[in-house]
Formats: sequence, structure tokens, C-alpha cells
Amino acid sequence: MLNPLITAKRILQAAAHVSDSAALVRLIVERIRSALRVDVCSLYVMDDQEELVLTATLGLEESAIGQIRLAIGQGLVGTIAKRQHPLNLDHADQHPKFRYFKDLGEEHYQGFLGVPMIHLGQTLGVLVVQVKETRRFSEEEEAFLVTMAAHLAGSLAGNLKKATKPINGTTMPILRYQGIKGAPGIQIAPAWVVRDDIRLEDIPERAGKGLAYESELIRQALEETRDELDTGLDQLGTSDSDTLNSLLEVYKLLLASPELLAAINEELDNQHCASTALKHAMQRQIDVFESMEDPYLRARAEDLRVLAVRVYRHIHEDTAERISPDQPVILVGRQINLSHFTRIDRDKLAGIVSLEGSALSHTAVLANALGIPAVVGIGDEDLTRLDGTELIVDGYRGQVIAHAPTGLREEYERLTRQEKALQADLSHLKLLPAETKDGMQIKMYTNTGLLADITPGLERGAEGIGLYRSEIPFMVHNNFPTEEEQIRIYRGVLSAYAPRPVTMRTLDIGGDKALPYFPIKEENPFLGWRGIRFTLDYRNILLDQIRAMLIANIGCNNLQLMIPMLSREDELQSFHRLVDEAVAQLKEEGHPVSKPAVGIMAEVPAVLWLLPRLSDTIDFVSIGSNDLTQYLLAVDRNNPRVAKLYSHLHPAVLEAMRGLVRECRRLNLPVSVCGEMAADPAAVILLLAMGVRTLSMSAFQLPRIKWLIRRLTMDDCLLLLDKTLSCATEAEMRELLNAHIRSLDLGALVQ
Ligand code: PEP
Ligand code: MG
Repeated sequence: MLNPLITAKRILQAAAHVSDSAALVRLIVERIRSALRVDVCSLYVMDDQEELVLTATLGLEESAIGQIRLAIGQGLVGTIAKRQHPLNLDHADQHPKFRYFKDLGEEHYQGFLGVPMIHLGQTLGVLVVQVKETRRFSEEEEAFLVTMAAHLAGSLAGNLKKATKPINGTTMPILRYQGIKGAPGIQIAPAWVVRDDIRLEDIPERAGKGLAYESELIRQALEETRDELDTGLDQLGTSDSDTLNSLLEVYKLLLASPELLAAINEELDNQHCASTALKHAMQRQIDVFESMEDPYLRARAEDLRVLAVRVYRHIHEDTAERISPDQPVILVGRQINLSHFTRIDRDKLAGIVSLEGSALSHTAVLANALGIPAVVGIGDEDLTRLDGTELIVDGYRGQVIAHAPTGLREEYERLTRQEKALQADLSHLKLLPAETKDGMQIKMYTNTGLLADITPGLERGAEGIGLYRSEIPFMVHNNFPTEEEQIRIYRGVLSAYAPRPVTMRTLDIGGDKALPYFPIKEENPFLGWRGIRFTLDYRNILLDQIRAMLIANIGCNNLQLMIPMLSREDELQSFHRLVDEAVAQLKEEGHPVSKPAVGIMAEVPAVLWLLPRLSDTIDFVSIGSNDLTQYLLAVDRNNPRVAKLYSHLHPAVLEAMRGLVRECRRLNLPVSVCGEMAADPAAVILLLAMGVRTLSMSAFQLPRIKWLIRRLTMDDCLLLLDKTLSCATEAEMRELLNAHIRSLDLGALVQ
């Protein structure tokens, strides 16, 4: 019985140990040929010229590797790529598309099955198996190959293309990783891979600095790991104490095994550094355990993996504490978190790349606050091998690029220079109004959530805070902050901005915004217990928060309250009752508080139709275009697979925005936009035309958008909105708007 999942898993596990892409593709064809018991397995990979190159084969003439090239649509392989559909043939050479290549040896094989390898809609290559007999492959065989191709395409997308290059070529192939925009900006700097949460396969491979030095390093690390196991201090992932003790015993035995120590010494003798010697030696032991029949012994392989990482951490103990590069670096890791920010000097932190995380994870929030470009949520890519490699982090597009060819690198260098100059040039705008050329005044507010970004906002002339994301201080705590702690935090913000208005949104957790001390597990968290839905179920938390905000507001008088994720009229009524109760309680306690203005986020599409029912009991509306886009288009804003579908220029989003603004104006409700749309120059033109007069964005975006507004005229904006709405595609819309921005000599805004 063929099991594509297990075969794919084994290939991917083995792939972690191969040293180059030629070995990787050979491994793939080897494993598939033996799993399917066929005569031939070959892999054709699409190269940069969009040609399918024979990259590995077992069964056909190996000297043809790299020589056989097919355009899309050419031959059987090109046809499979073109149609993105398998071909299963009993007589390959009788198919009208069959193309004969001399010296390839295909004439000996009749049965042919080829399937495309597709990732995110792109054909990466074609996998082919062949047999001598004249037969069609069975349904099971076809299903196996299709599934294998899908797994391998998803997991090895970045590595396959490398195999089409000559092995001893002088230039490294460009690597591009698509993630989610974490924080805007562009930076070029070497990668610094942080080693937390590392897996055995992630351990980078390097030569050693000398046998004596590396031996001592590993000796110490092993000793420290043994001490750690003796004291049993670290729970190694389990909380049950009996299980823990027996696990620790197993670990100790494994660590003391003479085979392991001999293997480490052998690897050190081969001039590897301590980490590489550890990795190879552990892997050798793991392979032995994995091949055992006894399931108990096979499971020890997993223990060895855990153990290897423990020892590895001890080897790098000094670097785990403090990150002290001698030049600015891009921190790369599975989950870059707040602790990393505290372990590196600000002037050494050029950018962030986090495999996990979302646009609103701590990483992204902090990077935004500090003005550090960040790309998050790249997914399961192996970036650890890039340690020390120069990376380009493009926070505008959510892309990370390694081995950029000279031309591309120069272009990015130009952009970073331009950006620096722009920031410096724009500092004079701080005191100037955001006013169009024909005199329309726009209010420029900032989005914040940390005390760290209070100053950047003020320095850039923010006229108030349009969105204070109150969940952020909750996220950086270890438990729900007390009322007193919250008062201190909120007072810091309110007093720094007084008398300018500060719109504090009550706790918006759930979805992708998890509290470390209050995990919520749901099948579909974005449609679940989020924002006001959660806090109305935890009235005490909401009450504490509102009380703290009201007390902090005493003497400042600039607080406005805002409700996140509102989708029902009764939620608004309950919220009002709670605020009234908080005011009454505090008055009773002798605090001179009064009820502040109450507004709502318009981010669930339902609000568009609810506004007439809500308008009597709300004082303002702030459009959260991030969630509005997500919910209108049913596109997860944090899923890189559908990132290209997430667009606030989608005609439905524009119509919804227009409808919301029109409704607010009709109902005399002040309206602002506080989602990312407010910081997108192209979108700002449309928002102005729709009638938006207040924008709120991260502090680092304020000068750019103010610069744009001061060059626009309302007539132009209105005209452009009209034209935009009749464009056929979003790409066309963006080009139209960008062309206008360029025509104003503001090309730097639309890189
Ligand atoms: C939004 O949804 O647009 C918004 C500003 O809220 P958040 O990004 O915090 O969900
Ligand atoms: Mg939102």
C-alpha cells in the first residue's frame, strides 16, 4: 500500500541533511523510484527562463541532466506544465506531443506518468516516472505521485530552482521568501539567526576553529546539559513529575552513550565546529534508532532530537543571552519576540524576519513602534542556513530576498537611501498642517499601543491618537494587568498627548491577538471570541479596564472610548451600561470622572447597515480597513497563501468604504480611518475623495502621508476616484494612482 504522506515526510526529513540542491533532487527521484518500484524517475524543474530543465534522473542517461530543456507546451513534460494536469500513458512515444531526444534512453520505456509540481498557482516543475512495460499506471500510483508532488512543491519550493543552476557556477541563485508585511521600510544587512526554538536540522554547518577549541566547547556543553538533567530544573516540555523523571533518566543514558561520544569525536576530527559535529553525530544516532523495529527504541530518536537542541543551546550560551553583533543585523528566527528586542542594542537592529507571527503579533507591533522593517509569517522555510548572509527585508511588500543579483541590490540600495533622505527631508513638515493645495484640512492622528511609540508620534506632529490598541500592554504582561498598573499605563499616554484627543480602544484580543496567559483555542478564531464579544463575557476585565481609563483621564480630559469588533446593537447597549456603571462606581468612590465620548470601530461589514440604528448612541466611527477587508473578502489577513487576494483596493472594499463614509456624513457622525489603508498613499487619494478628513496611522508613516496630502488637490482626488472605480483590475487602479503620485514628483512614496 503506497503512503505518500510517509514517503514525503521521510524525503523532507532526509532533505534536511543533504548539503546541496543537486543532492536534494537526486534524493527525491531515488525515494520516489523505490517507493513506486519503477524503472525511471526524473525531475524537471522550471528555471528563471521559464524552461523545464531535466534536473535529476535515475534510469535515463544521467549525462543529459542540465542538457534537456523544454519550453512550456513542448514535449510531454512541457504539455503537463502547460495544462497543469497529469499525463498517464501506456505508449509514451505514440502521444502526438512526444519528443525524442537522442542519447536520453527514453525509447526503452513505454509506460509514462508525469505530474506537475505546483505551489501557489505556479508550476515549479514536473515529476515523471516510467516503466519498460506497455501499461498505464494505476489510480493508486497516480494519486501517490500527485500527492507527493503537492507535498514536495509546498515544502521545497525555494530549493528546487537552485538545482537548475550549474553546480560550480559562481553566482548564488536569488532566494525570495514571501511573508506578511510586519512593519514598513526596507533594510539591507546580514542575517543573524537566533537559535531559540531551533530544530536539529536548523543547526547551521560550519568549519571549526581548531580541534582543541571545538572539543572544549562541546565538552563543556555536554557537562552543562548533564548538570541540567541532574537537577531536573528544566521541564523539557512535560509537567507530570513521574514522566519527567523517567524522561530525564533516558536522556542521561542517551547522552552518556559511548557511541554518541565516539561519533562526536570523529566529526570533530573531520574539522567541523562543535555545533556541526554535534548535529552530524546526533543525526547518525537518530538514523540508527529510526531504523529499529521496536517502537520503543524508535521513539528514542525523538528524544535525541530534543537532547541535541539542549546541548546546542549550551554551546551558544553566550549568544543566547545578549545579541551583540559588530554591525547592524537582521534578526531572523522562528518566532522573534519581545525578549529579542531587549537583548540587542537598538542601533544594531536593522530588520526583523520571523517565520511565525502575524501582522498584529508582538513582533510586528513593536517593529512598527520602533520603525524597524519587519516581515513575519513566512511559514515553514529553512532560513537558518542564511546565517551571516546579506538579506534584503522589504517590509512594504512582505518580502525577504537573499543572494540578490547586483542590479536588484542596487535598486534596493537606492530605495533605502531615498527613504533615509525622505525621512530627514520630511522632518520640517512636523509643524505644517496636512492641507491639500486647495485648502482641505486633514487631521493626522497616530496609532499606538506601547509607551515606546508615544514619542515618535509626537515628534512627527501627530494631532492626537486615533487608535490606541489597548491589548498591546496586555500582551506584554505575564498576567492580566491590575487596575493600578493599567491606570499608570493609560495615564502615561493620555498625559503625553493632552489636550490632543486619545481614542482608546478596549481590549481587542482573540483572532491572531493571543494573550500568553489566556490562550483561546478555537477552530475559527477570527469568527469567534474576539474583541467586544470576549470582553462582554468577561465583564470584570472590561469594567476594570474602563475604570482604569476613566481614572487615568482625570486631569487630562482627552479620552474617547472605542469598541472593537462590534457587530450587534445590543453589544453597544451593554457597553454603554458598563461605562455608566464604571462612572457611577468611581463617582461613589469620590473620583471626579465623567463619561467620555463613545465610538465604534467599523470593521465588521454588518456595521455598514447598522449605522442608522447605532447613530443616536455613538459619538464617532473609525473604519478599521484591515479587518473590514478581511471580513468582506473572506481572506485571512495573516495567511501568506492568500496574501495576494488581500487588497483594500478591491472594488467591494472601496464601495463599502464609500458607503460607510457616506452614511456617517448623512448621520452627522465624525468618521476616520485607522487601518493600514490610511498609510497607503494610493488609497489616501481615494479616501480623501470619499470624504474622509481624519486619518490615523503608525508614527513613521505620518510625514510621508502629510507630504502627499500637501501636494494633492481635491479635484484631482475626485477625478481619480471616478477613474479608479471604472478600472478593470486592482493592478490597473494602483498603476493609475501611482502614476499620479509620480507626476507630483513624489515617486519615493510608491517604490
Ligand atoms: C483594523 O482592523 O483595521 C484595525 C485598525 O484594527 P486591528 O488592525 O488592530 O485589528
Ligand atoms: Mg481590527
